[in-house]
Amino acid sequence: MRVVILGATGSIGDSAFNVWEQHRQDMQIEGLVAQQQAEKLWQRAQVMQARWIGLADERAAVQLKRAHQGEAGPRIVQGTAGIMEMLKEADATHVLAAMSGFAGLEPTLLALSRGITVLLANKETLVAAGDIVTRTARQHNAALIPVDSEHSAIFQCLARPQPFHRIILTCSGGPFRNYTAAQLQEVTVESALRHPKWSMGPKITIDSATLMNKGLEIIEAHHLFGADYDAIDVVIHPESIIHSMVEFVDGATLAQCGVPDMRIPIAVALSWPHRWPLEVPTVNWPGTTLHFEAPDLQTFPLLGLARQAGRMGGHFPIILNAANEMAVEMFLQRRIGFVDIPGLVEDALSELGDARTVNTADEVIAVDARARRYTQELVAHKGR
Ligand code: MG
Repeated sequence: MRVVILGATGSIGDSAFNVWEQHRQDMQIEGLVAQQQAEKLWQRAQVMQARWIGLADERAAVQLKRAHQGEAGPRIVQGTAGIMEMLKEADATHVLAAMSGFAGLEPTLLALSRGITVLLANKETLVAAGDIVTRTARQHNAALIPVDSEHSAIFQCLARPQPFHRIILTCSGGPFRNYTAAQLQEVTVESALRHPKWSMGPKITIDSATLMNKGLEIIEAHHLFGADYDAIDVVIHPESIIHSMVEFVDGATLAQCGVPDMRIPIAVALSWPHRWPLEVPTVNWPGTTLHFEAPDLQTFPLLGLARQAGRMGGHFPIILNAANEMAVEMFLQRRIGFVDIPGLVEDALSELGDARTVNTADEVIAVDARARRYTQELVAHKGR
């Protein structure tokens, strides 16, 4: 297999690198793409013998080219256009889509339209354009395999498609599980970035703290497994050992378990329908206790809001995702408080919400851009 990794220097990129170290005989690296961590990307490309590297940030690409002028190494492309060019020319069989946020949409669609298997670690793509993405995959007979740990779990439980009653998404609860609304007022960027179970990038870590991550995952599961929104439940499971479950029509429930380590779902996706041996820690069952509780929808309104937006369809999930991405960014920049995030998303949904079907990626991009602008202006006008 020949693999392109989008988001090669992030948290998923690091885990994928370790999977590659354990399976370099099975995986040839065609290309590595990052946002702006140029030097890390260059070093990794040397080790992995990648043929191409791409940097979304043009300035970082120019600097990197200058720094390594005349040296033997991968071909460097820059900007979205350069990365799209690479995806057209590269001889890839698999693309691991692990970039953060909505920026993953266009490269994912391009890879699918070329019949390339996409290993999807970028849930925003499915939230904003789930119908378009799954349709493109079907039309071009391209496999779409989830890497998100919960969806990898469901995917494994449904390896043989069977009628099911419901999907049960597990949720660690994030760093503020059991916090009251008053306690959430005091939350800082630092405390929100400290996830108890998973080590991940900043965007998804904040989403885990607001429970928006689980809301986005409800929409993701709807698209990946064709499940009705009423057939997708969420249960808080702080130990993060069960990664999700499927309850079948006869009452039998299958769960996929393991230590919280993204190398497992990445290897599952890469090796599917086979399995590669992998050196990772495993669960020590005698010393393990598992807990389950219902999520607190009052204190964490984004979970319910996401489900509602998914159900409404059309522009709603695009707006939900765009407003949330902007709000998270502004929170990380310390321009708004943690508890302001849900309000901004709710405002954007009620002001711009529209249930008309969106048919093309360009329409999705336009709706997304409008929702981002709106959310930014909302904060600017409040003079925060
Ligand atoms: Mg997940």
